Amino acid sequence: MSSSDPVEVLQRVFGYASFRGPQEAIVRHVISGGSGLVLMPTGGGKSLCYQVPALCRPGLAVVISPLIALMQDQVEALQQLGIAAAALHSGLEAEAASAVWRQLQAGELQLLYVSPERLLSGDLLERVGAGQSAISLFAIDEAHCVSQWGHDFRPEYRQLDQLAKRFPQVPRLALTATADPRTQSDIRERLGLEHDAVFLASFDRPNIRYLLRHKQAGNGQLLQFLAEHRGESGIVYARSRSRVDRLTAELKAAGYDAIPYHAGLEAEARRQALQRFRLGSGVVVVATIAFGMGIDKPDVRFVAHVDLPKSLEAYYQETGRAGRDGLAAVAWMAHGAGDIPQLRRFIDDSGASEEQKRIEHGKLEALIAYSEASGCRRQLLLRHFGETLAEPCGNCDGCLEPQAGSDCRVAAQKALSAVYRTGQRFGSAHVVDVLLGGNTERIRSLGHDQLSVYGIGKELDRGQWRALLRQLVSLGALQSPAEAKGGLCFGAAELVQPLLRGERELVLVLPPPAKEQRRRSAGTAAAGHASAMEANDPVLLALKTWRRDQAREQGVPPYVVFHDRTLVELAAVRPTSLAELGGVSGIGSAKLERYGTALLDVLTAVA
Ligand code: ADP
Ligand code: ZN
Repeated sequence: MSSSDPVEVLQRVFGYASFRGPQEAIVRHVISGGSGLVLMPTGGGKSLCYQVPALCRPGLAVVISPLIALMQDQVEALQQLGIAAAALHSGLEAEAASAVWRQLQAGELQLLYVSPERLLSGDLLERVGAGQSAISLFAIDEAHCVSQWGHDFRPEYRQLDQLAKRFPQVPRLALTATADPRTQSDIRERLGLEHDAVFLASFDRPNIRYLLRHKQAGNGQLLQFLAEHRGESGIVYARSRSRVDRLTAELKAAGYDAIPYHAGLEAEARRQALQRFRLGSGVVVVATIAFGMGIDKPDVRFVAHVDLPKSLEAYYQETGRAGRDGLAAVAWMAHGAGDIPQLRRFIDDSGASEEQKRIEHGKLEALIAYSEASGCRRQLLLRHFGETLAEPCGNCDGCLEPQAGSDCRVAAQKALSAVYRTGQRFGSAHVVDVLLGGNTERIRSLGHDQLSVYGIGKELDRGQWRALLRQLVSLGALQSPAEAKGGLCFGAAELVQPLLRGERELVLVLPPPAKEQRRRSAGTAAAGHASAMEANDPVLLALKTWRRDQAREQGVPPYVVFHDRTLVELAAVRPTSLAELGGVSGIGSAKLERYGTALLDVLTAVA
């Protein structure tokens, strides 16, 4: 049943009408034997980039993935499509593993998912790659794991550099959803892809609404946010295990189906939590960052951060777990200056090298600048990943609830003068001490209490000054080069001079003063939430009930049977024949054969 026309394979096997974004170019590149790096946001459709070539090229496609849960999901989904796929990993029972081996030896498999350590230990590669033409391609998923610059370095990924040497004529496709420009070049170098194509899809996730809130004491804000999302699946990220446990108890008391997840729980409890989240709807997982990779549940409707993540990359990755199905989703975060000292301490106490600590501090600063900035969040987020969004997005708090900034012209003048007078070499903590007239040992010994700028900034508090300095860094008026070890110095003169002379207007949004616990309304534009409207459609409800029963019977997550998106389309189109059903996105020939009649029955029953 092999065909070399990728569009035909896409339509017949996967049931999709056309490729998305750069998919087609990537697929054709790989089919013709090319290697490369694919950068595509979560939900962008990375899997098809290697799954379609796997079906179009002769031989076995080897997919390297770090996570067993993820492999298992993908394999189940592929089997539902009638594709011969299997996974080899440490979690497999001996019997199941030898069945996979038999299939391999018989040359029956089209796709094999393996963990990097499984691939490179023993003689797996020799056995599958006996004749080199036996391997159709290597797909290296989560490729950022190969880089120390990335946010999830895994040493076992390093050994994948062997592939280029041992199988020079087999295409290698590295894929990742998060890599800043530096991580990208590191991945290419490590995997021997320096001279190969790079496919860059936009990192924008337009269906995710970014909402940031100034953190208030207690959990009222979170409860208010969750109340707008009752019945939906979501993740709440919190910093520590104890906080996760407390929050879970509180959410349960408020009537939510909440489950905790953190590294302190027994492996079995974690496995069950993951399973309930995958299989259920309306489950809220309260988790530390231990809960993460491997969650490819498509219908996560919200991700809420009650504490700051450690970098913008982590934030992007964690929020990216929302809305993989392309439907409306929310990334909500409560942030406050109170989180920052603790995060800094974590880095300082981490035992990493000084060089690595500086990288981490820099990443944290970028995250803080993002959380404190005014204006469109999405523009800032994309800029961090090297992309430019020309217009404000209209789907973030900066766009939806613009805040009046305050005139910071004089404050900026004072801050820049303080940096200048102290010699352009101190970090923001010291500069702020000088502005506030602090009485520290360091100030006295340096004689900084004698400077004209000493104590001239009492109108703002510490958190506000630090926010202002960070925003001056984002603007480029100040900079903090790596070799300065956190010290601030002037940026480009054409930016600094007008500000120093007070000639340039500067309106910024600063955090509220620490002492004043201002009650800001956490209300959001609740309108236009698609999932809430669809919840009342009886056809959709009937389809969901049918899907849930199917999934239970087969012991797979509901989205392996059909994605929400397919059900929504079915409910809207209400096909009355198998031919019409086949035209719905997500229904290929195998699923049509398997579920077609049952679906028509469901649709006629509610019509
Ligand atoms: P990623 O791995 O990049 O996060 P996936 O490969 O899981 O994304 O794809 C996300 C969703 O988009 C899946 O439900 C997938 O079936 C769907 N999808 C991918 N490509 C297409 C396409 N060309 N047409 C329709 N749906 C697609
Ligand atoms: Zn915006």
